[in-house]
Amino acid sequence: MHMNRTRGLLVGVLLLVAAACAVPFVSEREIEIESEKEFDKMRQSMAISNDVNVRGYIFCVADAIIAELEEPYASMDWEIEVFDEDAINAFAMTGGKIGVFTGILKVAENQDQLGAVIGHEVAHVTQQHAVERVNQAMTTQIGAAAAGAALGGGYAGDAVQVAAQVALTLPYGRKQESEADTVGLVYSANAGFDPRASVQLWKNMAEANEGAPPEFLSTHPSSDTRIEDLIAEFPGALVNYNSAKSSGKVPNCAP
Ligand SMILES: [Zn+2]
Repeated sequence: MHMNRTRGLLVGVLLLVAAACAVPFVSEREIEIESEKEFDKMRQSMAISNDVNVRGYIFCVADAIIAELEEPYASMDWEIEVFDEDAINAFAMTGGKIGVFTGILKVAENQDQLGAVIGHEVAHVTQQHAVERVNQAMTTQIGAAAAGAALGGGYAGDAVQVAAQVALTLPYGRKQESEADTVGLVYSANAGFDPRASVQLWKNMAEANEGAPPEFLSTHPSSDTRIEDLIAEFPGALVNYNSAKSSGKVPNCAP
């Protein structure tokens, strides 16, 4: 079959347009499906803590925070896993999968500080940061490169699946980190964890960061800015904290 030049050009343009339109828009649900798979993989491939006290402590803090979320997140089927890993890390995935590495307890010294960590991670989920991030990134080279890496890694799936997979690997943006701090502080205060403990937590993180940077910190705002921003939120957060206490929310999670 022969094609004249003009027609060939037209086809080329159409292919380009099609390629541009093919940039997938990924829904929260699609990221949730990939998150579940990833979470299961982690559970199979990483060491799970079997320390009953540590698990109970972390579940207690996480449950107290989950109870303070707005719907539909409060009734979501949250799953929490404690990984016996030295890295200072914690995450929460779309769909309500929370992973806490025991290494985080080196910097989160008490239940209030752990509340700040989990509040922050859960806020990434409720503010739908993964879906925001991936749909911004897929229109840029970052997204294309990440998708290429996912495909190069032998990932088989359609474009939307690949994009959803990419959502799990992209770091959050700085604005999202600040938002997770602010929203997370409200959750932890409402659960009865002292919001002021967040300052010491981020100081500990910064100290632990000297030397090899822990994964958890690599994309987070500089600790000075973060601490200043948190302190600015204290007046409101303390009102929440005090009313949580007076309504009987006094968590006692430490083993
Ligand atoms: Zn974060």
